Amino acid sequence: MPSGDIISDFFALPIKLSKETDAFINQLKRKPPKNLDSLVQDLHETVFDEIDCLTCANCCKSISPAVTDVDIERLAKHLRRKPSDLVREYFHLDGDGDYVFRTQPCPFLMPDNYCMVYDARPKACREYPHTDRRRFAQLLSLSRLNVSVCPAVHEIFERLRQDK
Ligand code: SF4
Ligand code: SF4
Repeated sequence: MPSGDIISDFFALPIKLSKETDAFINQLKRKPPKNLDSLVQDLHETVFDEIDCLTCANCCKSISPAVTDVDIERLAKHLRRKPSDLVREYFHLDGDGDYVFRTQPCPFLMPDNYCMVYDARPKACREYPHTDRRRFAQLLSLSRLNVSVCPAVHEIFERLRQDK
């Protein structure tokens, strides 16, 4: 599939999480295959080779990472600001007690979809969308949410479902 199709196809979909994919993820939760990590990691490599996140940035536009104190210290150093000033300006605590951005899109997302703080971005931004993580079976509930946010996650589950 040529670069860009996965992303444009995703945004053309009226419903991102189909009943079939939802049922498939529930089936994986009940009985994950032993080789789930390697299957998903291989698909992660293939799918991310086919897309350019700079044409998307939907994660930075629509959800916030959970941001730790260490992330805030790193950001503050990078921006030459006081951590307390950054917290006041950009963050609030969510129901789980994590710092999240007050606003979406992320205040550090630039109009060309580059991240203004890329080298100092929070750990959760570096790891998103978590499809190359080990013990992926433990991330199925989170990934189910990400099917509706991230064209790559959507595509990975589509291919996984079709190859099963
Ligand atoms: S990680 Fe997913 S949602 Fe974020 S920019 Fe890349 S394809 Fe888009
Ligand atoms: S800090 Fe950068 S990578 Fe993280 S959500 Fe904001 S723009 Fe995206």
